[in-house]
Amino acid sequence: MLNIVLFGPPGAGKGTQAESLKKHYGLVHISTGDVFRGLDPESDLAKLAKSYADNGNLVPDDITIKILESEVLKHPDAKGVIYDGFPRTIAQAEALDQFLANKGTAVTAMVGIDVPEEELKGRLKNRAIDSGRPDDADPKIIQNRIAVYNDQTAPVAGFYKNQNKYAAVNGVGSISDIFDRLCAAIDEVNVSL
Ligand code: ADP
Repeated sequence: MLNIVLFGPPGAGKGTQAESLKKHYGLVHISTGDVFRGLDPESDLAKLAKSYADNGNLVPDDITIKILESEVLKHPDAKGVIYDGFPRTIAQAEALDQFLANKGTAVTAMVGIDVPEEELKGRLKNRAIDSGRPDDADPKIIQNRIAVYNDQTAPVAGFYKNQNKYAAVNGVGSISDIFDRLCAAIDEVNVSL
C-alpha cells in the first residue's frame, strides 16, 4: 500500500495538491478537516469538533484518531491513501504507525509543502472570501492556527525524519510546478523502497 502523508501549514495548498495526487497515483484522499466539516451538523461530535476548529485549535487526539481510523476502514480495497491534515501531533503519528502496522503496512513517505508565513497569511485571507470558513475569516484565529501548527504539528516532521521518510518541496510557484515537485519527491522515496 502507498501511504502518503501530505504535510504543511494551514494555507500551504495541501487540499489542492492532494486532489491531483489522488488522481495521479489512484489513491483515496482522506482530509480530517473535510471529515469534521462533513459530519451531521446536529450531531454531538460535529458540535464538539466545531468548537475547537472555529477557534483554530486542534480537535483532541482520541477523537481525531478514531475518526481517521474509521475513515481508512471505509476503503478496504484502496491501493493507497493520501493523508491530508493528519497526523497533526506526535501522538497521532504514533497512532497511525500502530494502526498501519496492524494492517500489515506502513507510512511510505511524508511530503512537506514549505511556504513562508507571510505568504500563508495572505492566502488564508483570500480563501476566507469564498470558503465561508469561520476559521479563515479572523486574523486572530489564523494567527492561532499558525501558532498551533508551529507548536504541535511542526515536530511531526521530525518524527518521520527520524524514520528517513520525510521530504519537503518548495510550495511557492504554480500549482502544476508544485505538483511536479511533489511527484518527484514521492517517486524518489517509492523507488528506493
Ligand atoms: P487547514 O486549512 O488549517 O489545514 P483543515 O481543513 O485541515 O485546515 O482543518 C480544519 C480544522 O479541523 C483544524 O484547525 C482542526 O481544528 C481540525 N482538524 C483537522 N485535522 C485535525 C487533526 N489531525 N487533529 C486535530 N484537529 C484537526
